[in-house]
Amino acid sequence: MENMDEERKIESVVILGAGPAGLSAALYAARAELAPLVITGMQLGGQAALTHQIENYPGFPEGIGGAELGDLFKQQAERFGARFEFDIVTEVNFAQTPFCIKTYHREYLTEAVIIATGADPVHLNVPGEKELTGKGVSYCATCDGWFFKQKNVVVVGGGDSALEEAIFLTKFAAKVIIIHRRNAFRAGAILQTRVRENPKIEYLMESVVKKINGSDKVTSVTIQHVKSGAQSEILADGVFIFIGHTPNNDIYKGQLVLDEKGYIKVDEKMRTSVKGVFASGEAVDAEFKQVVISAGMGASAAISAGRYLESLD
Ligand code: NAP
Repeated sequence: MENMDEERKIESVVILGAGPAGLSAALYAARAELAPLVITGMQLGGQAALTHQIENYPGFPEGIGGAELGDLFKQQAERFGARFEFDIVTEVNFAQTPFCIKTYHREYLTEAVIIATGADPVHLNVPGEKELTGKGVSYCATCDGWFFKQKNVVVVGGGDSALEEAIFLTKFAAKVIIIHRRNAFRAGAILQTRVRENPKIEYLMESVVKKINGSDKVTSVTIQHVKSGAQSEILADGVFIFIGHTPNNDIYKGQLVLDEKGYIKVDEKMRTSVKGVFASGEAVDAEFKQVVISAGMGASAAISAGRYLESLD
């Protein structure tokens, strides 16, 4: 194996993605002495790394920063022999074994694959959103909150992400206005209480954003009341959009069975429709989207991949 041309080396297991699922899969596969190769994608730690504080990952009673947790996951996997390539997967071929994974920089052959490529934020698709992204429109409070010191920002959405990030934004912003399309938040009770008790947060219910205004930066949003149809303009320097996620599964279309929402279908052992290909985390989970659950799925996928590889011997 050592003398084999690097290009033709066949890996035991390649893990696609380095969020909580991919990094936990890497830890378990490394401890099974499979020397997994992780192709990290853009964001080490995944979406969790963009969360300023994670308060519900067991073992951290005071909470832990998302990026810090991702780093700890990586260190732990590396300690047991996981390898990391900072690259992006562009194409996969699961039609034959060894499977082929193409990235921007090279091609990998592997006997087993664990998919953990996660999900991306959903866009509002209103005029002004695309043009003003990075100029006041953001999908990440941890990344961009600092730019809005003493400014007014709008947060769109009524789920856990919207409320959690609205609270975080009050560290910087003078005022945070949550705009939600229904008359009840979807978020959990603790966050709802914290939002209601926060003097810097206001909320407009049964309202939707119709347009984001501004030429070189956001100046206001046009909103519409869903029942009356009345439109109004709210002055704002920033618009943070947290209206859910969509899985990054386009490259698997036609190769793996996906459900109607585009999530990869897996059985209870994280096996996909192709033998030797396993999937975990938000690529398969439309329901819970929790770090602890993604991490658990990654571990399960790695155990299953190990058993699959043993069965080939
Ligand atoms: P989510 O729970 O799906 O909530 C999305 C929110 O955006 C909902 O309030 C939804 O309104 C609204 N929305 C969706 N499409 C919209 C549109 N086109 N225009 C306007 N509003 C729209 O998404 P999430 O908040 O990102 O959370 C995802 C998952 O992660 C959830 O399971 C959540 O519990 C979990 N999470 C947990 C934590 C935590 O435990 N601390 C933190 C973050 C996320 P409706 O309510 O009317 O559908």
